[in-house]
Amino acid sequence: MRLPATDNHMHLDPERGVGTEAVLRFAKKGGSAVFIVVKPRSGVPSGDTLIENNLNTLRLSERAQRESGVRCYTVLGVHPVEVHRMVSAMGAEKAVEHALRATEHAAEQVEQGSACALGEYGYPHYPVEPEVIEACDRVLLHAFELARDAGCAVQLHTPAMDEELRQRILSIAEQAGVSVSKLVKHFSPPEFSSIASAGLVPSVIATKKNIRRAVEAGSSFMMESDYIDELSRPGAVVSPEAVPKVTAALLSTGELSEELAWRIHVEVPEKTYGVEVAP
Ligand SMILES: [Zn+2]
Repeated sequence: MRLPATDNHMHLDPERGVGTEAVLRFAKKGGSAVFIVVKPRSGVPSGDTLIENNLNTLRLSERAQRESGVRCYTVLGVHPVEVHRMVSAMGAEKAVEHALRATEHAAEQVEQGSACALGEYGYPHYPVEPEVIEACDRVLLHAFELARDAGCAVQLHTPAMDEELRQRILSIAEQAGVSVSKLVKHFSPPEFSSIASAGLVPSVIATKKNIRRAVEAGSSFMMESDYIDELSRPGAVVSPEAVPKVTAALLSTGELSEELAWRIHVEVPEKTYGVEVAP
């Protein structure tokens, strides 16, 4: 039986991990839909390798859907860590140029209906020089502008969101004219009230402890595994089965009502991404 169980953020890495097998495992536990997010490769990327990586992710996602019967949606873009690596290797101007080219390509995939959203955009989760922040600002602004035009969502990768960072993101969103309700805070803390009250959509790592805390904070959030698919780090951040497993467990104890599960796994993602995820 399929649960309403949508994983908002999963990576597949057939070279270092199990690849599409992760989605089969998700399906076996009752998972119904998954957002597969392009995973940064090691080394310094370029516009070409970023585009190639995005295209590979699309193919991987199509294969995962075919093999598993789970609805697989693809999220494409340039990770802030890749922006950082490029800034260090080639300077901010070139780095932004490469990132924007790949971002435009990703937005084209969304316009054509191959991909569903842009991600991950934002800032590295560790301290970086102001130059890197400024490069990330420029990339984020353009990603937001393209998302506005495509009418799609953007998954955000950021350090812990304090007031200053929240304001920074909101002002870039305003400048771009993108609706804040299309901005998903991936790896959101379970105490997400400040994120939700700013209008952003929180996505919380699926552990029982987290989700118990998240339902205290509100009902407009999503769940994710942030599975990174590396055999050297099995089950990081949590396993690909985590979303359906945690959902089933909390449903069985009554800590999650069917109504709330439907809200988290179907209503919120459908409203945010404009795609169908119902089991
Ligand atoms: Zn990620």
